[in-house]
Amino acid sequence: MEIPFNKPFIIGRELSYIAEVYSNNILSGDGPFTKKCQIILEQKTNSKKVLITHSCTAALEMAAILADIKPGDEIIMPSYTFVSSANPFVLRGGIPVFVDIRPDTLNIDETLIEEAITSKTKVIVPVHYAGVACEMDTIMAIAKKYNLLVIEDAAHGIFATYKNRMLGSIGHLGCYSFHETKNVISGEGGALLINDYRFIERAEIIREKGTNRSQFFRGMIDKYTWVDIGSSYLPGELIAAFLFAQLEKAQDITKKRLKIWKLYNDQLFIDSSQKLIRCPVIPNFCNHNGHMYYILLSKEINRSAVIEKLKKKNIQSLFHYVPLHSSPAGLKYGRVCGSMDVTNFISEQLLRLPMWIGLKKYQQDKICQTLKMAINN
Ligand SMILES: *Cc1c(COP(=O)(O)O)cnc(C)c1O
Repeated sequence: MEIPFNKPFIIGRELSYIAEVYSNNILSGDGPFTKKCQIILEQKTNSKKVLITHSCTAALEMAAILADIKPGDEIIMPSYTFVSSANPFVLRGGIPVFVDIRPDTLNIDETLIEEAITSKTKVIVPVHYAGVACEMDTIMAIAKKYNLLVIEDAAHGIFATYKNRMLGSIGHLGCYSFHETKNVISGEGGALLINDYRFIERAEIIREKGTNRSQFFRGMIDKYTWVDIGSSYLPGELIAAFLFAQLEKAQDITKKRLKIWKLYNDQLFIDSSQKLIRCPVIPNFCNHNGHMYYILLSKEINRSAVIEKLKKKNIQSLFHYVPLHSSPAGLKYGRVCGSMDVTNFISEQLLRLPMWIGLKKYQQDKICQTLKMAINN
């Protein structure tokens, strides 16, 4: 039996809510389930306003428009991330400026941000890798000092916290992903968290194709019209129905994932004392959400060989990421500031293990045993 890297799951009333969508007679966006998703997300995150979108990428595109990115503007971000941290800004003519990551959390190294700031800098994009928070106090202080916006890519970070604040609710804007590989899922899906009142009205307009349709539905104006740039960033109600069922069970989801995460850590942390592997580092002030279990292999170990050995035992493992700064589009559209030594090193050593709700203890035992055998010879 294969142990896949990821497996989508149903945990609550997903199917009955989808059936309910038909009786509500609204299949397009912004119906009752969309509203329920947004309210529950606002309650859980303490964000001033949440708008659900069809992806985290879409939420980041909205954020780039709200930040008023113009050609030549610079956006500081890690290179060790997914393309969607960068692409939404490049679409508006912005230039990603890549800085290196911290060797412990693999998040942007906050001590390198100030050096990367120029007169063109507009935004900092912290990416909370594996649901472990970036050093947000420092990042917010730098943003304040230089009058920059902070847009959190919290695609991994739903319901994880930094000093008791939900990731995604700390920067001016935050973005969640509900892609099937993330913690809370709806196949494709995302959310924009608006933590600064000045962006709310425009965000609603951008999401509704540049029209003031939302105000119209609230009875604030008597007809709706084209008022700004925008696109169609909202999901349909079928997606929202599935998502709402997952959000209702969010605590359960986090608990289950943390249990799986801990089981890996209990078994592999002992082995990390031999310095062949390094387990994840979680700073004291962070509560993570069990989004990912990764290990870092020491230099002497051939990662492809380990992946191959796991595969022979029907275990699917993955590496992460091809750094953006050395990718074809990254070279074309971005630039680096300083050395990328940690990024380059980590991206060659990191191995992600299967992580999904429903993964059984005996499967994790097999994964850990196979892994230990693979790294010990
Ligand atoms: C998954 C992911 C995204 C994109 O999410 P989508 O919902 O698939 O658009 C963005 N950033 C990071 C760090 C991700 O892991």
